[in-house]
Parts: sequence; structure tokens; C-alpha cells
Amino acid sequence: MDTAEAAEFAQDGILRRQSLRESAARTYARSLPIVPVRARGLTIEGADGQRYLDCLSGAGSLALGHNHPVVLEAIRAVLDSGAPLQVLDLATPVKDAFVSELFRTLPRELADRGRVQFCGPAGADAVEAALKLVRTATGRRGLLSFSGAYHGMTEGALEASGGAQDVRVVRLPYPYNYRCPFGIGGERGAELSARWTASLLDDPKSGVQPPAGMILEPVQGEGGVIPAPDSWLRRMRELTAVRGIPLIADEVQTGVGRTGAFWAVEHSGIVPDVMVLSKAVGGSLPLAVVVYRDELDTWQPGAHAGTFRGNQLAMAAGAATLAYVRENGLAERAAALGNRMLAQLRQLAEQQPCIGEVRGRGLMIGVELVDAEADGDASGGGRPAAPELAAAVQRQCLSRGLIVELGGRHGSVVRLLPPLTITDEQTEVVLDRLSDAIVTAARAPVREQARGGADARVPRGPSPNVHR
Ligand code: PMP
Repeated sequence: MDTAEAAEFAQDGILRRQSLRESAARTYARSLPIVPVRARGLTIEGADGQRYLDCLSGAGSLALGHNHPVVLEAIRAVLDSGAPLQVLDLATPVKDAFVSELFRTLPRELADRGRVQFCGPAGADAVEAALKLVRTATGRRGLLSFSGAYHGMTEGALEASGGAQDVRVVRLPYPYNYRCPFGIGGERGAELSARWTASLLDDPKSGVQPPAGMILEPVQGEGGVIPAPDSWLRRMRELTAVRGIPLIADEVQTGVGRTGAFWAVEHSGIVPDVMVLSKAVGGSLPLAVVVYRDELDTWQPGAHAGTFRGNQLAMAAGAATLAYVRENGLAERAAALGNRMLAQLRQLAEQQPCIGEVRGRGLMIGVELVDAEADGDASGGGRPAAPELAAAVQRQCLSRGLIVELGGRHGSVVRLLPPLTITDEQTEVVLDRLSDAIVTAARAPVREQARGGADARVPRGPSPNVHR
């Protein structure tokens, strides 16, 4: 056996043991049967020597890509200093520096009157804390959230997400242009969603009690990369402000330059009462915080405790990442590059009827795949989703050395979340491979598309020409 064969053999063994020993609930490990052993920037190298361009980026947590030098340096500095790695939420110079950097980036009005609560390390922990915070501050239980939302997998976060059924949570229509619940789309469709929200809150017979808060994503990520119009976000801010309802912006995925502004709320100019932050704020390590206006700070000491709220390495990596994004204008770069990618993908959509819509903001991009043969709705959008085609595109991408994620209501949206450091040349390679994968998958008969399923082996294509 030569070295390459041995490496492939070892990789097969790891994948086989994974599928035998790990939970049926495993996710990414199922659709991306690779074994990463090295990574730098946009590139991941598998145990079998194959290289991939990673446009999943740890579900958006790698703002600077894998192992960015400033992140590694920040981590090493803590390790070399002899500082404690675990001190619960005690004061440390590392935490102090992280909070200073975080407040420096926040919308002024929030930073000036802001408080920060460190949470357990996941985005869902911070969502839970935010819900508890507004429930404590208002003395109310109910919550307003949106169809298609994703806020995490813990119970409260799930309640607030689109698929849940908790009666304390009222789910409102999110402005989804392509599948507008009012059949008209655009700004007008978004305005109807705002009116519906206002009427529920003001009609004493709507069955909706005054809520503890409203939680929204400025761009729905897992829901299918759906940017809310700025005018709609301003309407939500106005609606909640005049009725004394705290507005929670979940920026777990949209934060740290991802959408072309440092925080996605900046596009519309709104200042939420609460912001939920995780993923990229830890610079690739686990960290989550809630930032909120000081008048909401009425909960008692210990109201939201937890052992792992003081991850020093994550705070150092996070501070370095926030500073690097700010100092190098990476949000502006994400905006420009994102627009270019959207324009190129929209050109492809003109030739490929299986692309229902290309949308996104900054480097948060989605391509919704649909049944090309079916009719759309009255607004010209809304053809049936094509989840099998989307899964086939994901496999075709992988065989070309490109990692993409699927999302959306029916898993039919191909999602790109490349690091903000992606170069122009890498962007071209990503778009070439994605386009090629879509064209190839769209040509294959449906039976072929459905092939693959759980833990499918990566189909081997020509060795990808990967840039770093
Ligand atoms: N909110 C949003 C908007 C998210 O995208 C996610 C994760 N994709 C979460 C919350 C939950 O974060 P975590 O997976 O770290 O719990």
C-alpha cells in the first residue's frame, strides 16, 4: 500500500467508526464525510490529502478563516503568559480587553448605556439568557418571534424558533420576498407583515398578551439566508419602542462584519435593546454574550450563572478578531465582495431555471433551488423547493473540493459563509466550482439526485486546485 492509499484507508476507518459510534442526530458529519486534519484560511485538508475550500466556516464562526495568525498569536500569548485558563467569570486583563474591544464596535447608543452578561459558550445559551433577561425586566412571559427563525437548540431558543409550537410564543411573518405569505413580496409584502404585527399587538381580541420581548435575526441564516428589508427592521424597532417591548437582535450569525456592516443592525440604523452574540465573537473558540441597555439590568445576582463563562482563550481570540475586522475594514470588504458574488450568481440564475432566487447580504449568501418545471405563485416567486437537488449540489461541490452548507425551510438553499479574508482569486474559484456543481446536478435525473443519503462517500473528482 502506498502512502496515499494508507491515508485514504485511515480516513475510511475514522468515518466508519464515526457512523457506528455517534448519535443518529449528528448533522454536518453526515452530509460532509471528510476528516479534516489541517486548515489555514479558507482551506481544509482531509486525512486523505484532499483539499477543500471551506465556505461553511464553522457555521459562520470563523470570520478570519482557519488558524489566522492574529488569532493564533493571541491564543499563544495567553498560554505563554501563565494566565489561568479557567477562572469562572472573575475579572482578568484578558476579559477586560475583550469587553473594551466589544464595546468599541457596538452601536454608540448601546455601548454608552450597555451591560454585558457572559453566558455558557453557545449561541443558544445567550438566547436563553436574553429571554430570561427581558422576562425578568418586564414581568411578562410571552414572546414575539418570526416564522423561519433559528435561535438554537436549547428549549427556550427552540420555542422562539420557526418550527416550535409553544403557546407563549407568537410567531409572526418574516418578510420572505421569494415566498411572501401575502403573495406580493418586496417592500409592500414586508409592510403587510409589519401591519399584521401591529394589529396583533393592538387588537384586544387578537389573543396576544403584551409580550416580554421580540426576537429577530436581521438576516435569517438557517432559515434560508433571508435579509429583512431595512425599512421593515425600522418598523419593528418603532412598533416595539412605542409599546415598551424590548427588541432582541440575534446577531449570533450576522455579527462581526459578516453582512457588510460590523453588526447587521447598522444597515437599518436601528438600536436594539438587547443583542445576542456568539460564533465569530470568540474568534473560532466558544464564547457567547448578551449585551443590553442598562435599564433592563434588573435581574438578581446569580440569575444566569454557569461554569464555562470565562474562557480566556476565546476572549483573547475574540478580541483579536474583533480588532482585526475593525482595523482592516473587513465589513466593507465583505459588502463589496458579497455584491460581486450575488451579481455573478444572479447571472447564472438567468440561465438555470432551477435557481429560484439568489440572495444575501455581505458574505452571507444563499441560492434557493426549486423545481424548474413547476409554476410559481402570483408574485412571480415561490416555485416548489428542491431539497434533493440542493443535496446533490452539495455533493457535487464536495467532489470539486468546495464545502457548502444547506439551509432554508426545506433544506433547499445552498449557503455560503466564507471567511471575510477570502481573496478575489479564491472567490472566483468558489463561484466556478459552485456554478459547475449546480449545472451538473441540474442535468442529472432526479433519481441520481436522490442518491447519496446518510454518510455518503465523497465522490472523487479531479484533484482540486486549491488556493490558500
Ligand atoms: N442564533 C442564530 C441566528 C444562529 O444562527 C445560531 C446557530 N446557527 C444560534 C442562534 C445558535 O447558536 P449555537 O449553535 O452556538 O447554539
